[in-house]
Amino acid sequence: MEAADKMDDNEWNYHGEGNKSLVVSHVQMSRVLRLLKYSSEDAENAPQTTEEAFRQMENIVDFSNNVMSPLLGDKFVHSGEVVKLPLEFVRQLSIKVQHQRPAWRCDKVMDIYSGAALCLPNLTAPSIQTHTPPLCIEIKPKCGFLPSPEHVSKDIKTKVCRYCMHQQYKVANGKWKRKSLYCPLDLFSGNKQRMYFAIKHLIEEPQNNFKIFKGGQCIHGDRDELLSVSSLLQKLRPYFTCGNGRNKVVLHDFIQVLVDSLLSSDEEGDEGVEREGRTVCEASLCSTELIRTGPQPLPRDSVLGRILQVQLLDSLDIEGLFPLYRRVEQYLHHFPKERSRLQIDGPYDKAFLEKLQKCPREDDGSIEYAVAKVQQYRIAMTAKDCSIMVTLVPRRDEEDGTFSFSASILDLDPKPQDSVRRQQRLDHHVVAAYLRDDPGPR
Ligand code: ATP
Ligand code: MG
Ligand code: MG
Repeated sequence: MEAADKMDDNEWNYHGEGNKSLVVSHVQMSRVLRLLKYSSEDAENAPQTTEEAFRQMENIVDFSNNVMSPLLGDKFVHSGEVVKLPLEFVRQLSIKVQHQRPAWRCDKVMDIYSGAALCLPNLTAPSIQTHTPPLCIEIKPKCGFLPSPEHVSKDIKTKVCRYCMHQQYKVANGKWKRKSLYCPLDLFSGNKQRMYFAIKHLIEEPQNNFKIFKGGQCIHGDRDELLSVSSLLQKLRPYFTCGNGRNKVVLHDFIQVLVDSLLSSDEEGDEGVEREGRTVCEASLCSTELIRTGPQPLPRDSVLGRILQVQLLDSLDIEGLFPLYRRVEQYLHHFPKERSRLQIDGPYDKAFLEKLQKCPREDDGSIEYAVAKVQQYRIAMTAKDCSIMVTLVPRRDEEDGTFSFSASILDLDPKPQDSVRRQQRLDHHVVAAYLRDDPGPR
């Protein structure tokens, strides 16, 4: 990182944003800065003091380094470092990027008061020199399994996946105009044909789950303007000239490469993630024939396999977990000082992860058991919300359409303790709305 006094806003461009942070990228160096955002109406969300903003950033880095990286594999995780930026630079930057932000993201404003930011490698612009710009594909896959019937009160939750139910809710509430036909259970199935369909639907209706970057620039997804698949294919054509550049072939070859990189595993004889058969969503449009071929193993060491294993730490579903959350909340109400000993909000150090991993299998009625299960649930939430970045670098001396690929996992922020309560309410609303609109047997 440059010395803070040398920061020049002309060297940084708007790169993208999520619900919680805004990202700018350097024009030359393979670096991004990730700044927090907060709701402009709700000043409570803003960090109270500069120290608090820095503590929040340090917490994010510690959580990524000491919790998510050991669980997901350090080859996939880049935690970055906290930097202090001159406030004048941050203010100039916020003015400069404002007009590039998608309108639907502008309910929140960038933090211009603390000067705290996370500095990360730019995963869409690898620093290696290549003759053709790399293609980077970002997928926010969401939850890839159905909850176990043991813990849920509504049968539908064991048949239709959370993402597909939530889609219906979001369209009904005006968040999206059109329903996405993407289903995470197809992506995580390990079955190449089902994965193919999942990615095709992501391309057609990316919402906030899919983006493509070419040479560091976003060329598809997360924009206000209408997307056209044919204009995307135009941009991909130079990479896939084997089939004489016909649209169908370009699309097919592109998805194929992506599927292969998502399944690639370094482990020999990788047996696949154990999911107790909860792998098919009834709302998915994948033909029943495809589904009947049964799930293929999802390699444990692939990027998808790693994410799914961490998501599966949510073993009780929010309904089974909520009584344990209430046990923790009641305990903290009576003994507020225990909050720090129990590491409810961190520090996210090695001891934090060890405590979770030593958690007994059965509920012994202890507060430690309840805390550990809630923390496991929060970690699973992070894994349900993260993104995968696949980098495809065309191989120079070989025929077109061959790539070397690598994958990273980003957006690994800890979810706050009270997000469990929000999740419980949302679960109730999403399921109730789905049953209201879709009451009959399918
Ligand atoms: P969400 O709403 O999904 O929780 P968020 O607010 O936590 O998102 P991120 O997902 O971390 O924010 O970042 C927003 C976007 O910025 C990402 O979707 C990605 O496109 C881009 N981005 C983030 N980190 C990097 C990086 N290290 N390299 C390149 N692009 C990045
Ligand atoms: Mg994100
Ligand atoms: Mg996030």
